[in-house]
Amino acid sequence: MVLIVLVACKERKSIGENERPQKWFKGNLHTHSYWSDGDEFPEVILDWYKTEGYNFVALSDHNTLAEGEKWITIKENELYQNAFKTYLDTYGEDWVVHKSDSGKTMVKLKTFEEYRGLAEENGKFLVIESEEITDKFEDHHLHMNATNIQKNRPSRWHQCGQCTAK
Ligand SMILES: [Zn+2]
Repeated sequence: MVLIVLVACKERKSIGENERPQKWFKGNLHTHSYWSDGDEFPEVILDWYKTEGYNFVALSDHNTLAEGEKWITIKENELYQNAFKTYLDTYGEDWVVHKSDSGKTMVKLKTFEEYRGLAEENGKFLVIESEEITDKFEDHHLHMNATNIQKNRPSRWHQCGQCTAK
């Protein structure tokens, strides 16, 4: 009698139709705009990240969500004045809301919904709502980014006396 033993090697499972290969996405979850202490318009920031090949960005301004009406005054410095001219040239009078008050240029910032609508591209570029919760405890600065936040966050986050948001 001859006994034959067969040993089968289990093949490594190949990627099925329902399994996608893993992929890295490039993004930034911490950056600031004119909504707090940054020095650029949200649309300009998002366009820069898109051009540089990022897949997602969260504008995490200090203690603020980009909601409601906010106007900023463009600084007198030539650098900021030129940046505003470039912004106006790039996005046009139909998009940019601005006025002159006592010789100073004032610009209305776009809300999260507005700049997301302009920048997002389905499957290519995602804009995530975010806020950098900024507070102070004794001599220590406390900064914590809340990314993709839901609207029912505690209201005490906006009651600190040390907010750096302008
Ligand atoms: Zn920050």
